[in-house]
Amino acid sequence: MSTPQRFVKRNEIYAATFNKGDLALPPSKKIIVVTCMDARIDPAASLGIELGEAHIIRNAGGRVEDALRSIIISQRLLGTREIAVFHHTDCGMMTFTTQELQSKIADEDGPEAANLVNRIDFLEFTKLEESVKHDVKYLQSHPLVLKDTTIIGWTYHVESGKVTQVDH
Ligand SMILES: [Zn+2]
Repeated sequence: MSTPQRFVKRNEIYAATFNKGDLALPPSKKIIVVTCMDARIDPAASLGIELGEAHIIRNAGGRVEDALRSIIISQRLLGTREIAVFHHTDCGMMTFTTQELQSKIADEDGPEAANLVNRIDFLEFTKLEESVKHDVKYLQSHPLVLKDTTIIGWTYHVESGKVTQVDH
């Protein structure tokens, strides 16, 4: 079965019992969760977040710099006031460097691609808790993030499904 076929089939099942079509646009719990795109993580299920309650912003690594555009929209237009930053164990972002990826793409695709990719910082990291602390600090000191925002850093453990709050 192709991906579109599978989506249509699974969606029919989902939509058949769907009864939350009347939710408000702003997240009811006023929470933003920033987390990695890692396929092993289910943020809503692992944190008990129901539909309509939070903005879940995902990217490679759960890096806040990459999420900033969405965070600003979420805070200024949709009223969120708390940010939870999650980075996780065994993250792919600890397996390469920006320079390595840039070189790989330059080798594979040539100079035009190299010119484009050399402008991208892939925001990899080496130490899990340090990267969480870095991202919390980044948000706390960013002039476009609202001053009264509660910002808490976390690690998620893909081996156990458990989360741990990171002190900072
Ligand atoms: Zn990851």
